[in-house]
Amino acid sequence: MPSHQSAKEEIKRAADIVQVIGQFVQLKKAGKNFVGLCPFHAEKDPSFTVSSDRQMFHCFGCKKGGDIFAFGIDYHGLTFPEALKDLAERYNVQITDKFSAIEEKKKSKLRETLLKINEAATLYFQQALSKTAIENPAADYLKKRAISNEIISEFRLGYAPDKWHGIVDYLRRHKIDLERAVQAGLIIPKKGGGYYDRFRGRIMFPILNLRGQVVGFGGRVLDDSLPKYLNTPETPVFHKGEFPYGLHASFKAIRQKGIAVIVEGYMDLLALRRHGLDEVVATLGTALTDQHIRKIKGYAKEAVVVFDPDEAGRNAALRSLPLFLNEGLPARAVVLPDGHDPDSFVNTKGLPEFLKLLDSASSMFDFFLAQKLTQDDSDIEGKVHALKEILPVLSQLRNAAQRSLYVGRLSERIGIKEEVVLSELKSFKQNRSGDAPERGLKDRLKGRKLDKKIGDIQLLNLLVHHPKTITGLMDSGCRDLLSDDTASKIVEVIFDKYRREGQFSPENIEDTLDNDDVRIRLREVMVADSIYSDQEVKQAVEEIREKARQKRLSDSVAEVKGDPEALNKMLLSKRRAQISY
Ligand SMILES: [Zn+2]
Repeated sequence: MPSHQSAKEEIKRAADIVQVIGQFVQLKKAGKNFVGLCPFHAEKDPSFTVSSDRQMFHCFGCKKGGDIFAFGIDYHGLTFPEALKDLAERYNVQITDKFSAIEEKKKSKLRETLLKINEAATLYFQQALSKTAIENPAADYLKKRAISNEIISEFRLGYAPDKWHGIVDYLRRHKIDLERAVQAGLIIPKKGGGYYDRFRGRIMFPILNLRGQVVGFGGRVLDDSLPKYLNTPETPVFHKGEFPYGLHASFKAIRQKGIAVIVEGYMDLLALRRHGLDEVVATLGTALTDQHIRKIKGYAKEAVVVFDPDEAGRNAALRSLPLFLNEGLPARAVVLPDGHDPDSFVNTKGLPEFLKLLDSASSMFDFFLAQKLTQDDSDIEGKVHALKEILPVLSQLRNAAQRSLYVGRLSERIGIKEEVVLSELKSFKQNRSGDAPERGLKDRLKGRKLDKKIGDIQLLNLLVHHPKTITGLMDSGCRDLLSDDTASKIVEVIFDKYRREGQFSPENIEDTLDNDDVRIRLREVMVADSIYSDQEVKQAVEEIREKARQKRLSDSVAEVKGDPEALNKMLLSKRRAQISY
């Protein structure tokens, strides 16, 4: 069997990073690269770049980047062995198990165990749901809501019987380590020893990640008792607010339609799916998080959020606006008529009426305005208050046309002159700590082509994009021309590698760099375009060689300044060097 290094290489050859990342991030072609909105930080303009040539990704905003394995580690929260295993399975590459550091191995072993226990628990809950009605009120509950068997099996719904030792006994029978089941959040240790079931008398909704594994559970009561929802606590495989519920089943439909409908409850989602609306996810009874939106925007061009008509629903809507603005995902909001949730609405009025409601959804901002201004804003105090709440949101809009549209709307609605709103907005922005405007992605990817004066950027760009120049550069002393340490370190590593192995490729350098700044710098050069055309390369090398020679001479001049004779000699040879060039 091949070593992990060769398995890594083989996977890299078999897999296409654009395809792998493209499953989770919407990528657009931009020159020779692909770009999209970064899944790791909030941004409205894409600076997340994937290079097919280099089989690597790099974000110019948050500086995350690396190869296909680094993406698995960062995006799915995997350890390296897990990322390797994951891709190896997908691309049929054999790997050995003897590679990882002990800590990493322990971590991935634990996660693997917890996922297995979750899987066993899912089967237990599914079996319980298939039992006769006396033992199993959940079946009746789902039947009343017309949830079909197809949906029950697609979403792997189950039932946690109303017992204290239901799953405890089941896991024990299956020889599962109960301490691990505690870590998976399924059972709870008793004070006097022993364990009891966490989920009792609830319909169980397994929460699947995008790789189809059960990472946790949501349990919903069958009556009006509290808490209505009970979720798996934080575990090594389940993090609250990480995944919207149902995305594993709906991401294809969302990408196809370009739209994601976001509802609050499990039953809302299932009811809509039953009526044929597939592009829907649910927030698991928690507020929308930036992570939810970041996952969703990997598939959707737009989101429509359906809020319950109560106070909590309205507040959730208001809080979500800045999140959407920050993540650059256009969003609209709908509040259902009083007394309805999506479940009851679609069941009594049908899907066409629900779709009409979606069509009528106003932009999240208009919704926000309408909500903020419903309170008594006729007096000055009220107006100032409303303005104070809205300015932070307005100031986040980067698109000037959009901003001026909203300023106009706000001034009309609130009865304050547009100039006044604008100047308030301006002073609000000035008072905020100024973050330096980021340079456009286009410039960055162009490798700053305009400036061809030889410097760090040019030398690195030349070596990375025209590796053959190394023979002309290695003995030229060009490292002395470099002004910063990161560039110098990269050149040193490249030269070292070439000296030892007689060849180098930029792709193989990254692993040998031990410092993040240096790695980031190298990635940025790699995904950038070449500054020099093939015709210009030779001359660029000549210029660098000459510049290095000049530098050597002037350094020596500085050294021998106190010695007139040596100085004379030096100046003479310097002049000759200039003439010969
Ligand atoms: Zn980023």
